[in-house]
Amino acid sequence: MRAQPRASHFIGGEWIEDTDGAVIESVYPATGEVIARLHAATPAVIDRALAAASAAQKDWAARPPVERGRILRRAAELIRARNRALSVLETLDTGKPLQETLVADAASGANALEYFAGFAPTVTGQTIPLGRDMAYTLRESLGVCVGIGAWNYPIQIACWKAAPALAFGNAMVFKPSEVTPLSALALAEIFAEAGLPSGLFNVVQGDGACGAALIRDPRVAKVSLTGSVPTGRKVYAMAGEGIKAVTMELGGKSPLIVFEDADLDNAVGAAMLGNFYSSGQICSNGTRVFVHRDVREAFLERLAVRTARIVLGDPLDEATQMGPLVSEAQMARVLGYVAQGQAEGARLVCGGTRRGETGCFVTPTVFADVRDDMVIAREEIFGPVMAVLDFGTEDEVIARANATEYGLAAGVFTGDLARAHRVVAALEAGTCWINAYNLTPVEMPFGGVKASGVGRENGHAALEHYTRVKSVYLGLGDVDAPF
Ligand code: NAD
Repeated sequence: MRAQPRASHFIGGEWIEDTDGAVIESVYPATGEVIARLHAATPAVIDRALAAASAAQKDWAARPPVERGRILRRAAELIRARNRALSVLETLDTGKPLQETLVADAASGANALEYFAGFAPTVTGQTIPLGRDMAYTLRESLGVCVGIGAWNYPIQIACWKAAPALAFGNAMVFKPSEVTPLSALALAEIFAEAGLPSGLFNVVQGDGACGAALIRDPRVAKVSLTGSVPTGRKVYAMAGEGIKAVTMELGGKSPLIVFEDADLDNAVGAAMLGNFYSSGQICSNGTRVFVHRDVREAFLERLAVRTARIVLGDPLDEATQMGPLVSEAQMARVLGYVAQGQAEGARLVCGGTRRGETGCFVTPTVFADVRDDMVIAREEIFGPVMAVLDFGTEDEVIARANATEYGLAAGVFTGDLARAHRVVAALEAGTCWINAYNLTPVEMPFGGVKASGVGRENGHAALEHYTRVKSVYLGLGDVDAPF
């Protein structure tokens, strides 16, 4: 299986290679095969990308927004036309089943491009009456934005950052995760074909050192990271040194609360979606499932039956519902957490093992009788491991749900909508679902509070994070100077 791109980087409309850079291998985690070999960006490559972005940005910002939108819409159409090829590429790079990548990855990237293509021409400033004088505001682009991606949703992350950045007149240098370097390059090629001028979307490969070099460069106005909290702390600090704008989409340990009056089948389905989709490698997963004591046994019974039916296996078979984890390292990490859960006395209801000797497959895992102080209830595992905890009262579960440094997402299942709104209002989370879980349409702002992040992606909220406001005071009379 080969998925070798034409070169490692895409800069200024051209494929660029510099074999002096360290080798990066993309591995298909279902088999361990190396599917592509690339090179990390050298300082010369990084400089070239930032120079190309800087050179292209001002002309782009000066174009009518409707023209910028037209190009993004064309890119969305090309993505949709090539959805299957892009999905296979994403499956090979991440191991996620084709059943998922066909509907959730490139397609959601196309949605973002369409949304921001339509949004850009609607952006206006304000006029501010001041008696004799007046003021007005201009919405300006920021300049060169750096996007840094995680490995769980590579093309979606690239689009969620590139779409608002480009729509509002910025240029982007995007660095995908070194674990999943491929689909961002395919996206760059699509942008070029859609007519995006050279230099506006550049892709450079590399690990954290490459990311850090990009963030520190004075040509960069803004950094948008999707990654873990420890990386977020470093990136935020580096951006802070340069007083640069940031968007931080970081990790979580989100609560999903199931009250005694919930529709139990829906709650079980949501808990499975929020723990097993993408083999559990989703930042907003509801990995602490709080179930009311009265329905706990019924919940666990139905959960065990449905979990046993999950089809785990070859990600390229469209009947497969769960693939491997992204890498050997991630598999080892997840199995380590399973062992820790057992050692701490949590009850293993199902799963918790590696499947087969080839590939990074871990069976869907459910722990019951989990206590708040256990490591599996506190740390982000990023694998198919659900922790079920029980609770008695609304006040108790709110306090326990909030007792974490994270605040990315939360879910509530109940038949009592007054209670649902009351609980959601009390939860410390950036994104909440009532009787649903993990749906992230581009129309809805997405992001975290507390250690889970700063800023929002998607929705109208993204405008704040890819533009700045210039105030213009207009004097319409004589200057009243006391001198
Ligand atoms: P990671 O933090 O290891 O890496 C993320 C990216 O940051 C990679 O591209 C990496 O090369 C880069 N990086 C690492 N160190 C850096 C440094 N010092 N300077 C600049 N860049 C650096 O995360 P990961 O393992 O790729 O992804 C999993 C994490 O991402 C999880 O914690 C998950 O919750 C989070 N995530 C969050 C969201 C969200 O929207 N909130 C979405 C997806 C994933």
